[in-house]
Amino acid sequence: MNILIQNARIASENSPTLKKGDVLLSNGIIKAAGQGLTATKGTRVIDARGRILLPGMFDAHVHLREPGFESKETLATGTEAAINGGVTGVVIMPNTQPAIDSATVVGQVLEIARRTARIPVYTSGCVTKDRAGKELSGIDGMRALGVKMLTDDGDTTSDPAVLLRAMQYATEFGMFFASHCEAHELAGPRALNDGAMSYRLGIKGSPACAEEIIIERDIRLAHATGAHIHIQHVSTRLGMETIRSWKQRGDVRLTAEVSPHHLLFTEDDIGDYDTHYKMNPPLRTRVDRDALVQGLIDGVFDLIATDHAPHTPFEKSQDFVSAPNGITGLDTALVSLHHHFVVTGKFGWDLIVKRFSAEPRRLMGLPVATLDEGQPIDLILFDPAKETTFTQDFMRSKSQNTPFLNKTLMGRVDLVVLGKNVLLERS
Ligand SMILES: [Zn+2]
Repeated sequence: MNILIQNARIASENSPTLKKGDVLLSNGIIKAAGQGLTATKGTRVIDARGRILLPGMFDAHVHLREPGFESKETLATGTEAAINGGVTGVVIMPNTQPAIDSATVVGQVLEIARRTARIPVYTSGCVTKDRAGKELSGIDGMRALGVKMLTDDGDTTSDPAVLLRAMQYATEFGMFFASHCEAHELAGPRALNDGAMSYRLGIKGSPACAEEIIIERDIRLAHATGAHIHIQHVSTRLGMETIRSWKQRGDVRLTAEVSPHHLLFTEDDIGDYDTHYKMNPPLRTRVDRDALVQGLIDGVFDLIATDHAPHTPFEKSQDFVSAPNGITGLDTALVSLHHHFVVTGKFGWDLIVKRFSAEPRRLMGLPVATLDEGQPIDLILFDPAKETTFTQDFMRSKSQNTPFLNKTLMGRVDLVVLGKNVLLERS
């Protein structure tokens, strides 16, 4: 398979301007990159005039629900949703049934992924057995199968002594910790932010400090042990500022992520109990949302991660308190970031490539995808002038619990190529 993509505008993490150019794809490798490349006989030519060529995105925080919750999502459907949204690699969270807390389960999950997924799937492992917060998981066995990220995501590892011990043990193996930050004693029914909206709807809210206390706690534990701590899905201004100030100190190994929904929405969007705006951590205030966007621009956040959290329509149609937390994100993330931030000039493609492609791969110790000559092919072609309507038919996730359902946004993923395979093509 030889493909020549001509006249594209090429995005990279290092340049705010898009560079015009061509790439020649051959046998899984970018054989040539430059200007005025010509096609030899038998080469397919794609005229990409007006379109943007990017490395594939990488999502370091997704829930693909297998094993145990296959009615919500499977590794097959979740990775197809990823491809649909221009994402060519994912890290799955371990809150499955059984939880991914031992070499046995890690082996099973990787085997299912090998059979059913067309993109690389990396798995995190639990910090504690069954995420129960008591005994350490089978850390050594999971490490032997390549697990790097330890997390009890879905919950905080509530006992700091247990987390401290895990950090002392696993850090010497080169593993790192990803923290879902939530003091459960303060979180109430975990339905929404404690504030004007919870007051109006008459539901006990979860205060920002429930998250901020654990952000501070877990950074301090990492500081004490020398562990690398990665703070997941930060939702509050003070949480972001806490991370900023610890990074400025410079004596702790600290990274952090922010999710598209926390950059885009606020608690006001819940309106009349719309469960498509119910997630954990909850949507906060406009002040928090604006601070998170600024934190992303300033580099406080290393990466964007969707926290893709599929649930069936039946589950999400329950009353607001009973409905589960989370929304899907893989089908929609890239187009929504383009529509809301690139089109409006808030930030450019260089930020998206850095934060949603390069840095998450660096976090996982993986080579960064680029469009340079000699590199393995891992790319997407994006049309900023076309629209995407997120109908049920369009989305590949098994679940459609997203505020973008049936919405039309600017931008479309036209082509995804990984190695020797064209994974997606829209004409
Ligand atoms: Zn979480």
